[in-house]
Amino acid sequence: MSAVANRSRVLHRSSRTTPPLAVGGHGVWLVEQGGREVLDASGGAAVSCLGHQHRRIVEAIKRQADTLCYAHTGFFSNGPAEALADELVGHEPGGLSLAYFVSGGSEAVEAALKLARQYFLEVGQPNRTKIIARRQSYHGNTLGALAAGGNAARRAPYAPLLTDAFSHVSPAFAYREQRADEDEAGFTARLAAELEAEFQRLGPDNVAAFVAETVVGATAGCVPAPAGYFRAVREVCDRHGALLILDEVMSGMGRTGTRHAWEQEGISPDLQAIAKGLGGGYQAIGAVLVSGRIADAVEQGSGAFQHGHTYLAHPIAAAAALEVQQVIREDRLLDNVKAMGALLQQRLEERFGDHRHVGDIRGRGLFRAIELVADRATRAPFDPARGLHQRIKKESFARGLACYPGGGTADGKAGDHVLLAPPYIVSAAEIGLIVERLGDAVDAALA
Ligand code: PMP
Repeated sequence: MSAVANRSRVLHRSSRTTPPLAVGGHGVWLVEQGGREVLDASGGAAVSCLGHQHRRIVEAIKRQADTLCYAHTGFFSNGPAEALADELVGHEPGGLSLAYFVSGGSEAVEAALKLARQYFLEVGQPNRTKIIARRQSYHGNTLGALAAGGNAARRAPYAPLLTDAFSHVSPAFAYREQRADEDEAGFTARLAAELEAEFQRLGPDNVAAFVAETVVGATAGCVPAPAGYFRAVREVCDRHGALLILDEVMSGMGRTGTRHAWEQEGISPDLQAIAKGLGGGYQAIGAVLVSGRIADAVEQGSGAFQHGHTYLAHPIAAAAALEVQQVIREDRLLDNVKAMGALLQQRLEERFGDHRHVGDIRGRGLFRAIELVADRATRAPFDPARGLHQRIKKESFARGLACYPGGGTADGKAGDHVLLAPPYIVSAAEIGLIVERLGDAVDAALA
């Protein structure tokens, strides 16, 4: 065979290298062609909440495939989608009463943004066309979701294609944004005042929604908001009649120890995007959870959400997600998320607490990160040109560890970080192995 014949025809993330083939998996482990086993410490990108090849999910997929693979939602509903909606919003948690099933996180965010817009058309407030988001956020890669996101590097190449309906306020990122002379309450009050000022700048009656990740994921690495922040921004939105959209694509569905991360904030959203942990990677599925107020407005107004995709509410995807959620509940896995999450934080602090290049160790549940700094005293990040996070990824992978490192920002407002999001079934021994391998990889990458 010629070299050309050997070349992969898949367009990979790096078009110059073909990654190893994954050929199998079990529990927290992925198996490469050739047999090497890699510890999946980030569940891909916080996706594989039940680990790999969980028998119950595989069987549920097979059963559904034997029964019904597809029926277009223009004509039919299907059993798994109805049951999954009951599972998610049957008890109207936080006033959420409908679920709209899509194929992933970006689609869920897009649908939530459009539902927010449609809601204001239904209630006769067509001027509400502005959406406020935050810097250092990530909401997806499709054009609407990318425009919402505040990740400068991801936006830059596509800036000419992005709508200017979005503006961005400061992230609730205490390690980087809280001033030395400010306590947590003062920091929260300043962020709420900044949001209020942004409403005033845009004209409060022009704003449809504020959108935020409940716990920031990929852009800055597992950043929970300071206490009271979400109550404060909820109040600002309510004062001006705007909606609160929470993006829990990464932080939701149990990842932080409660099904929804907002349960720990004492508020609930009007619209919520979920994905990754919904189907646990077994099928491509995301959803928008819709509050009764919005559902009622659409029902009493035009009667239909002006949106749609071919694979809405896919029966096999819904069957897989339903089984994933039932396993989480029946096996009481959120207890393990809390216990192993606390252990992970403790082990990370033991290994990196005195490390001269680790500035912060943070997160919630099994959603944890370390942030790397050139100087702990000044919190100065490493020069992004050094590509430290890529080196850590490479050194980790060489040691049989898949983790999820991300880069710092060019303006020095965030450093390189490593995100860990192991499956909810992870054991104490596996937590130990994750931290041991990561410690060696970080030291090797810095050498
Ligand atoms: N929102 C958040 C918070 C995410 O972390 C992601 C994915 N990393 C997305 C949206 C987009 O999801 P997807 O990649 O499934 O389109």
